[in-house]
Amino acid sequence: PKCSRQDVPHSIISLLDGFKASKTLFTASKLKVFDVLNSSNGLTLEEVAGQINASVLGTERLLEAAVSLGLLKTVKQQNTNVYRNTEQANCFLVSNSPESLHGYILHCNDMVWPLFSHLENAVREGTSQHERAFGKKSEDVFQDAYYSKDEVKLRFMDAMHSIARVTGKDVATAFDLSPYKTACDIGGCTGAMAYEFTKAHPGLSVIVFDLPQVIEMRRYFQPKENDDRVSFVAGDFFTDDLPKADLYILARILHDWSDEKLHVLLSKLSKICTPGCGLLVSEIFLDEERKRPSRALLQALSMTEGKQRSTSEYNDLLEKHGFTPKHIKHTDNLLDAMLFVKEDPNDKRT
Ligand code: SAM
Repeated sequence: PKCSRQDVPHSIISLLDGFKASKTLFTASKLKVFDVLNSSNGLTLEEVAGQINASVLGTERLLEAAVSLGLLKTVKQQNTNVYRNTEQANCFLVSNSPESLHGYILHCNDMVWPLFSHLENAVREGTSQHERAFGKKSEDVFQDAYYSKDEVKLRFMDAMHSIARVTGKDVATAFDLSPYKTACDIGGCTGAMAYEFTKAHPGLSVIVFDLPQVIEMRRYFQPKENDDRVSFVAGDFFTDDLPKADLYILARILHDWSDEKLHVLLSKLSKICTPGCGLLVSEIFLDEERKRPSRALLQALSMTEGKQRSTSEYNDLLEKHGFTPKHIKHTDNLLDAMLFVKEDPNDKRT
Protein backbone atom coordinates (compact mmCIF):
# COMPACT_ATOMS: atom_id res chain seq x y z
CA PRO A 1 0.00 0.00 0.00
CA LYS A 2 1.05 3.58 -0.63
CA CYS A 3 1.92 5.48 2.56
CA SER A 4 0.43 8.88 2.96
CA ARG A 5 2.90 11.72 3.53
CA GLN A 6 1.00 12.79 6.63
CA ASP A 7 1.64 9.43 8.29
CA VAL A 8 4.72 10.35 10.28
CA PRO A 9 6.09 7.00 11.52
CA HIS A 10 6.37 8.12 15.16
CA SER A 11 6.66 4.63 16.59
CA ILE A 12 9.51 3.76 14.22
CA ILE A 13 11.28 7.01 14.98
CA SER A 14 11.10 6.40 18.71
CA LEU A 15 12.51 2.91 18.16
CA LEU A 16 15.34 4.45 16.17
CA ASP A 17 16.19 6.65 19.13
CA GLY A 18 15.45 4.06 21.80
CA PHE A 19 19.03 2.90 22.17
CA LYS A 20 20.26 6.47 22.66
CA ALA A 21 17.70 7.04 25.38
CA SER A 22 18.66 3.77 27.14
CA LYS A 23 22.33 4.67 27.02
CA THR A 24 21.59 8.16 28.37
CA LEU A 25 19.87 6.59 31.38
CA PHE A 26 22.69 4.05 31.83
CA THR A 27 25.42 6.69 31.62
CA ALA A 28 23.71 9.13 33.97
CA SER A 29 23.27 6.26 36.45
CA LYS A 30 26.83 5.02 36.09
CA LEU A 31 28.22 8.54 36.59
CA LYS A 32 25.95 8.86 39.64
CA VAL A 33 24.19 12.00 38.38
CA PHE A 34 21.03 11.08 40.29
CA ASP A 35 22.96 10.50 43.54
CA VAL A 36 24.76 13.81 43.26
CA LEU A 37 21.49 15.68 42.65
CA ASN A 38 19.66 13.80 45.39
CA SER A 39 21.83 15.25 48.12
CA SER A 40 21.34 18.84 46.97
CA ASN A 41 18.59 21.36 46.46
CA GLY A 42 19.64 21.87 42.84
CA LEU A 43 23.09 22.11 41.21
CA THR A 44 24.40 24.18 38.33
CA LEU A 45 25.86 22.48 35.28
CA GLU A 46 29.40 23.27 36.46
CA GLU A 47 28.71 21.86 39.92
CA VAL A 48 27.35 18.59 38.50
CA ALA A 49 30.29 18.32 36.08
CA GLY A 50 32.72 18.82 38.99
CA GLN A 51 31.01 16.24 41.18
CA ILE A 52 30.78 13.54 38.53
CA ASN A 53 34.28 14.34 37.33
CA ALA A 54 33.32 14.95 33.71
CA SER A 55 33.72 17.67 31.10
CA VAL A 56 31.32 20.62 31.23
CA LEU A 57 30.38 20.17 27.57
CA GLY A 58 29.68 16.44 27.93
CA THR A 59 27.76 16.95 31.16
CA GLU A 60 25.66 19.67 29.57
CA ARG A 61 24.62 17.36 26.71
CA LEU A 62 23.92 14.50 29.10
CA LEU A 63 21.84 16.64 31.48
CA GLU A 64 19.86 18.24 28.65
CA ALA A 65 19.11 14.83 27.16
CA ALA A 66 18.07 13.57 30.62
CA VAL A 67 15.74 16.55 31.04
CA SER A 68 14.17 15.84 27.63
CA LEU A 69 13.55 12.23 28.74
CA GLY A 70 11.82 13.36 31.94
CA LEU A 71 14.59 12.05 34.23
CA LEU A 72 15.72 15.49 35.44
CA LYS A 73 14.23 18.95 35.58
CA THR A 74 15.61 22.47 35.59
CA VAL A 75 14.51 25.29 37.84
CA LYS A 76 15.63 28.90 38.14
CA GLN A 77 17.44 29.78 41.37
CA GLN A 78 18.62 33.39 41.75
CA ASN A 79 18.73 33.84 38.01
CA THR A 80 20.70 30.68 37.35
CA ASN A 81 19.43 27.40 35.99
CA VAL A 82 19.94 24.49 38.34
CA TYR A 83 19.27 20.81 37.76
CA ARG A 84 17.15 18.64 40.05
CA ASN A 85 15.98 15.03 40.05
CA THR A 86 12.36 14.38 39.13
CA GLU A 87 10.27 12.57 41.79
CA GLN A 88 10.64 9.37 39.78
CA ALA A 89 14.42 9.73 39.66
CA ASN A 90 14.53 10.23 43.45
CA CYS A 91 12.47 7.08 43.92
CA PHE A 92 13.97 4.69 41.38
CA LEU A 93 17.32 6.03 40.18
CA VAL A 94 19.13 7.19 43.32
CA SER A 95 21.37 4.24 44.17
CA ASN A 96 20.46 3.88 47.85
CA SER A 97 16.73 4.55 47.69
CA PRO A 98 14.62 1.58 48.91
CA GLU A 99 13.13 0.95 45.47
CA SER A 100 16.25 1.76 43.47
CA LEU A 101 16.69 0.22 40.02
CA HIS A 102 20.32 1.38 39.97
CA GLY A 103 21.75 -2.15 40.25
CA TYR A 104 19.61 -3.41 37.40
CA ILE A 105 20.50 -0.41 35.23
CA LEU A 106 24.23 -1.07 35.69
CA HIS A 107 23.68 -4.75 34.84
CA CYS A 108 21.90 -3.66 31.63
CA ASN A 109 24.76 -1.33 30.78
CA ASP A 110 27.66 -3.66 31.57
CA MET A 111 26.21 -7.09 30.71
CA VAL A 112 23.15 -6.82 28.47
CA TRP A 113 24.26 -3.94 26.25
CA PRO A 114 27.45 -5.71 25.04
CA LEU A 115 25.39 -8.84 24.27
CA PHE A 116 22.84 -6.86 22.28
CA SER A 117 25.57 -5.14 20.25
CA HIS A 118 26.09 -8.63 18.73
CA LEU A 119 22.41 -9.25 18.08
CA GLU A 120 22.92 -9.78 14.39
CA ASN A 121 25.27 -12.69 15.07
CA ALA A 122 22.96 -13.96 17.81
CA VAL A 123 20.11 -14.16 15.31
CA ARG A 124 22.20 -15.72 12.53
CA GLU A 125 23.64 -18.34 14.84
CA GLY A 126 20.79 -18.73 17.33
CA THR A 127 23.29 -18.67 20.19
CA SER A 128 24.24 -16.45 23.12
CA GLN A 129 26.96 -13.99 22.17
CA HIS A 130 28.68 -14.16 25.52
CA GLU A 131 31.99 -15.30 24.07
CA ARG A 132 32.06 -12.53 21.44
CA ALA A 133 31.05 -9.86 23.95
CA PHE A 134 33.21 -10.92 26.91
CA GLY A 135 35.88 -13.16 25.36
CA LYS A 136 34.82 -16.20 27.40
CA LYS A 137 32.57 -19.18 26.67
CA SER A 138 29.69 -19.75 29.07
CA GLU A 139 27.83 -23.03 29.33
CA ASP A 140 25.92 -22.07 32.48
CA VAL A 141 25.31 -18.33 32.44
CA PHE A 142 25.32 -18.09 36.26
CA GLN A 143 28.32 -20.23 37.13
CA ASP A 144 30.50 -19.35 34.10
CA ALA A 145 29.53 -15.75 33.38
CA TYR A 146 27.95 -13.94 36.30
CA TYR A 147 29.82 -15.66 39.12
CA SER A 148 33.33 -15.96 37.68
CA LYS A 149 34.49 -12.68 39.29
CA ASP A 150 33.29 -11.20 42.60
CA GLU A 151 32.80 -7.78 41.06
CA VAL A 152 30.53 -9.13 38.29
CA LYS A 153 28.73 -11.37 40.79
CA LEU A 154 27.93 -8.48 43.12
CA ARG A 155 26.68 -6.42 40.21
CA PHE A 156 24.40 -9.23 39.08
CA MET A 157 23.16 -9.83 42.64
CA ASP A 158 22.53 -6.11 43.00
CA ALA A 159 20.50 -6.20 39.77
CA MET A 160 18.37 -9.10 41.03
CA HIS A 161 18.05 -7.39 44.41
CA SER A 162 16.72 -4.18 42.88
CA ILE A 163 14.10 -5.93 40.71
CA ALA A 164 13.04 -8.11 43.65
CA ARG A 165 12.55 -5.05 45.86
CA VAL A 166 10.40 -3.35 43.24
CA THR A 167 8.29 -6.44 42.43
CA GLY A 168 8.51 -8.40 45.70
CA LYS A 169 5.56 -6.91 47.53
CA ASP A 170 3.15 -7.47 44.63
CA VAL A 171 4.32 -11.06 44.22
CA ALA A 172 4.23 -11.77 47.96
CA THR A 173 0.70 -10.42 48.33
CA ALA A 174 -0.72 -11.96 45.14
CA PHE A 175 -2.39 -14.89 46.95
CA ASP A 176 -3.72 -15.99 50.32
CA LEU A 177 -0.76 -17.97 51.65
CA SER A 178 -2.13 -18.48 55.16
CA PRO A 179 -2.23 -22.32 54.82
CA TYR A 180 1.58 -22.33 54.48
CA LYS A 181 4.02 -22.04 57.38
CA THR A 182 7.36 -22.73 55.72
CA ALA A 183 8.49 -21.64 52.28
CA CYS A 184 11.63 -22.22 50.26
CA ASP A 185 12.62 -19.58 47.73
CA ILE A 186 14.43 -21.61 45.08
CA GLY A 187 17.18 -19.45 43.49
CA GLY A 188 16.23 -16.76 46.02
CA CYS A 189 19.51 -14.85 45.51
CA THR A 190 19.97 -12.01 48.04
CA GLY A 191 16.78 -12.81 49.97
CA ALA A 192 15.04 -9.59 48.88
CA MET A 193 11.95 -11.50 47.75
CA ALA A 194 11.97 -13.70 50.87
CA TYR A 195 11.90 -10.64 53.15
CA GLU A 196 8.87 -9.34 51.25
CA PHE A 197 7.13 -12.68 51.87
CA THR A 198 7.80 -12.65 55.62
CA LYS A 199 6.71 -9.01 55.82
CA ALA A 200 3.42 -9.83 54.08
CA HIS A 201 2.77 -13.11 55.95
CA PRO A 202 3.50 -12.97 59.68
CA GLY A 203 3.09 -16.75 60.09
CA LEU A 204 5.55 -17.68 57.32
CA SER A 205 9.27 -18.40 57.47
CA VAL A 206 11.33 -18.61 54.29
CA ILE A 207 14.51 -20.51 53.43
CA VAL A 208 16.48 -18.90 50.61
CA PHE A 209 18.16 -21.62 48.54
CA ASP A 210 20.85 -20.56 46.06
CA LEU A 211 24.33 -21.48 44.82
CA PRO A 212 27.13 -21.31 47.44
CA GLN A 213 28.82 -18.47 45.51
CA VAL A 214 25.69 -16.37 46.03
CA ILE A 215 24.91 -17.34 49.60
CA GLU A 216 28.45 -16.42 50.72
CA MET A 217 27.81 -12.81 49.58
CA ARG A 218 24.48 -12.35 51.33
CA ARG A 219 25.88 -10.04 54.01
CA TYR A 220 26.19 -7.28 51.38
CA PHE A 221 22.41 -7.26 51.02
CA GLN A 222 21.26 -7.73 54.61
CA PRO A 223 18.28 -5.51 55.46
CA LYS A 224 18.67 -2.99 58.28
CA GLU A 225 16.10 -4.74 60.44
CA ASN A 226 16.97 -8.30 61.31
CA ASP A 227 14.31 -10.91 60.47
CA ASP A 228 15.10 -14.37 61.81
CA ARG A 229 12.24 -15.90 59.84
CA VAL A 230 14.49 -15.72 56.76
CA SER A 231 17.35 -18.23 56.59
CA PHE A 232 19.82 -19.25 53.87
CA VAL A 233 20.87 -22.67 52.53
CA ALA A 234 23.56 -23.14 49.86
CA GLY A 235 23.22 -25.74 47.12
CA ASP A 236 22.67 -26.50 43.45
CA PHE A 237 19.00 -27.02 42.60
CA PHE A 238 19.85 -29.48 39.83
CA THR A 239 22.07 -31.76 41.87
CA ASP A 240 21.59 -31.20 45.63
CA ASP A 241 18.75 -32.04 48.02
CA LEU A 242 16.25 -29.21 48.40
CA PRO A 243 15.14 -28.02 51.86
CA LYS A 244 11.74 -29.26 53.06
CA ALA A 245 8.93 -26.70 52.94
CA ASP A 246 5.19 -26.55 52.31
CA LEU A 247 5.44 -23.74 49.75
CA TYR A 248 8.11 -23.45 47.04
CA ILE A 249 8.72 -20.10 45.36
CA LEU A 250 10.19 -20.00 41.86
CA ALA A 251 10.62 -16.32 41.01
CA ARG A 252 12.32 -15.64 37.69
CA ILE A 253 13.82 -19.12 37.62
CA LEU A 254 11.88 -21.08 35.01
CA HIS A 255 12.51 -18.71 32.07
CA ASP A 256 16.28 -19.27 32.40
CA TRP A 257 16.17 -22.96 31.48
CA SER A 258 15.12 -25.35 28.70
CA ASP A 259 12.18 -27.73 29.24
CA GLU A 260 14.67 -30.62 29.60
CA LYS A 261 16.60 -28.92 32.43
CA LEU A 262 13.36 -27.87 34.10
CA HIS A 263 12.15 -31.47 34.16
CA VAL A 264 15.15 -32.28 36.37
CA LEU A 265 14.25 -29.51 38.85
CA LEU A 266 10.50 -30.07 38.69
CA SER A 267 10.76 -33.82 39.27
CA LYS A 268 12.83 -33.12 42.40
CA LEU A 269 10.16 -30.68 43.57
CA SER A 270 7.43 -33.16 42.74
CA LYS A 271 9.14 -35.86 44.85
CA ILE A 272 9.70 -33.62 47.86
CA CYS A 273 6.21 -32.07 47.82
CA THR A 274 3.43 -33.82 49.69
CA PRO A 275 -0.19 -33.35 48.50
CA GLY A 276 -1.36 -29.81 49.26
CA CYS A 277 2.14 -28.36 48.94
CA GLY A 278 2.15 -25.04 47.05
CA LEU A 279 4.34 -23.88 44.20
CA LEU A 280 4.37 -20.18 43.40
CA VAL A 281 5.73 -19.28 39.97
CA SER A 282 6.53 -15.64 39.29
CA GLU A 283 7.53 -14.66 35.76
CA ILE A 284 6.50 -12.41 32.89
CA PHE A 285 3.71 -14.45 31.31
CA LEU A 286 3.46 -14.19 27.54
CA ASP A 287 -0.01 -13.99 26.05
CA GLU A 288 -1.11 -17.11 24.19
CA GLU A 289 -0.36 -15.56 20.81
CA ARG A 290 3.19 -14.74 21.91
CA LYS A 291 2.75 -11.06 21.07
CA ARG A 292 3.06 -9.33 24.45
CA PRO A 293 4.54 -8.14 26.67
CA SER A 294 7.37 -7.15 24.39
CA ARG A 295 9.64 -6.88 27.48
CA ALA A 296 9.67 -10.69 27.62
CA LEU A 297 10.23 -11.09 23.89
CA LEU A 298 13.08 -8.58 23.91
CA GLN A 299 14.71 -10.33 26.85
CA ALA A 300 14.57 -13.60 24.92
CA LEU A 301 16.91 -12.10 22.31
CA SER A 302 19.81 -12.47 24.73
CA MET A 303 19.59 -16.15 23.61
CA THR A 304 20.19 -17.86 26.91
CA GLU A 305 19.22 -21.51 26.92
CA GLY A 306 15.88 -20.67 28.52
CA LYS A 307 12.70 -19.36 26.96
CA GLN A 308 9.77 -17.10 27.64
CA ARG A 309 6.52 -19.01 28.12
CA SER A 310 2.78 -18.36 28.25
CA THR A 311 0.60 -19.38 31.20
CA SER A 312 -0.61 -22.47 29.34
CA GLU A 313 2.99 -23.49 28.64
CA TYR A 314 3.79 -23.15 32.35
CA ASN A 315 0.64 -25.12 33.17
CA ASP A 316 1.68 -27.96 30.81
CA LEU A 317 5.17 -28.02 32.27
CA LEU A 318 3.95 -28.20 35.87
CA GLU A 319 0.99 -30.49 35.34
CA LYS A 320 3.41 -33.13 34.03
CA HIS A 321 4.86 -33.14 37.55
CA GLY A 322 1.57 -33.33 39.41
CA PHE A 323 1.05 -29.61 40.12
CA THR A 324 -2.43 -28.20 39.43
CA PRO A 325 -2.87 -24.50 38.62
CA LYS A 326 -5.11 -22.82 41.22
CA HIS A 327 -4.80 -19.06 40.83
CA ILE A 328 -3.20 -16.55 38.52
CA LYS A 329 -2.49 -12.91 39.26
CA HIS A 330 -1.56 -10.23 36.75
CA THR A 331 0.04 -7.67 39.02
CA ASP A 332 0.63 -4.65 36.76
CA ASN A 333 4.20 -4.75 38.05
CA LEU A 334 7.21 -6.28 36.29
CA LEU A 335 6.28 -9.85 37.28
CA ASP A 336 3.03 -11.82 37.40
CA ALA A 337 2.35 -14.86 39.54
CA MET A 338 0.66 -18.27 39.45
CA LEU A 339 -0.06 -20.57 42.36
CA PHE A 340 0.00 -24.33 41.81
CA VAL A 341 -0.87 -27.02 44.32
CA LYS A 342 0.56 -30.54 44.42
CA GLU A 343 -2.30 -32.93 43.91
CA ASP A 344 -2.77 -36.26 45.62
CA PRO A 345 -1.92 -38.90 42.98
CA ASN A 346 -4.72 -41.12 44.43
CA ASP A 347 -7.26 -38.35 43.81
CA LYS A 348 -6.53 -38.19 40.08
CA ARG A 349 -9.79 -38.12 38.16
CA THR A 350 -9.94 -40.34 35.12
N1 SAM B 1 14.58 -15.41 42.47
C1 SAM B 1 15.38 -14.22 42.46
C2 SAM B 1 14.54 -13.01 42.11
O1 SAM B 1 13.42 -13.16 41.60
O2 SAM B 1 15.02 -11.90 42.34
C3 SAM B 1 16.61 -14.33 41.54
C4 SAM B 1 16.33 -14.70 40.12
S1 SAM B 1 17.82 -14.87 39.15
C5 SAM B 1 17.22 -14.61 37.51
C6 SAM B 1 18.13 -16.62 39.18
C7 SAM B 1 18.72 -17.14 40.48
O3 SAM B 1 18.86 -18.57 40.38
C8 SAM B 1 20.07 -16.57 40.79
O4 SAM B 1 20.09 -16.09 42.10
C9 SAM B 1 21.00 -17.77 40.62
O5 SAM B 1 22.14 -17.73 41.46
C10 SAM B 1 20.10 -18.92 40.97
N2 SAM B 1 20.58 -20.18 40.39
C11 SAM B 1 20.98 -20.40 39.11
N3 SAM B 1 21.35 -21.68 38.95
C12 SAM B 1 21.18 -22.28 40.15
C13 SAM B 1 21.40 -23.61 40.62
N4 SAM B 1 21.84 -24.56 39.79
N5 SAM B 1 21.11 -23.88 41.91
C14 SAM B 1 20.65 -22.91 42.75
N6 SAM B 1 20.42 -21.64 42.36
C15 SAM B 1 20.70 -21.33 41.08
